[in-house]
Amino acid sequence: MAEYQHILLAVDFSPEAEMVTRKGREIAEPNGAKVSLVHVVEYTGSTYPPEVPFPEGVDLSRRLLEHAEVALKELAITHGFPNARRYVESGSPKQEITRIAEENSVDLIIIGSHGRHGLQLLLGSTANGVLHLAKCDVLAVRVGHR
Ligand code: AMP
Repeated sequence: MAEYQHILLAVDFSPEAEMVTRKGREIAEPNGAKVSLVHVVEYTGSTYPPEVPFPEGVDLSRRLLEHAEVALKELAITHGFPNARRYVESGSPKQEITRIAEENSVDLIIIGSHGRHGLQLLLGSTANGVLHLAKCDVLAVRVGHR
């Protein structure tokens, strides 16, 4: 296997995320690779038009980002990556995962074959999109029932 120097783990907080982090450790340790974690918040704000205010002007997208930051930090510590760089982004998961990879010289993205969107599909929609867009290697860890 090629020697990887910077591995990006894409986590969606589904039960399958643990398989992604476990595979990340298996590959990162012998390679001495740096590990980063990314989670993308998909909320766009379009569900709640401005004329429907939240109580006390709550900014839901900011709340979601803050919540994801806490959850990603906990996941990083629990899964053995206390020093990993963490990226919490908003937007399209496939676009953001591949953008972060490119901007940070990632040479391997590890992703679940399925997650929240794709148990019925041969390959989840995010995994499929990342495979198409990424300029580096992508490892899809087989999860789920197939
Ligand atoms: P899915 O497209 O939901 O079947 O997800 C397949 C895999 O893509 C998951 O196992 C994760 O590794 C990754 N993924 C999906 N959604 C996200 C997200 N919002 N942020 C980061 N990674 C994600």
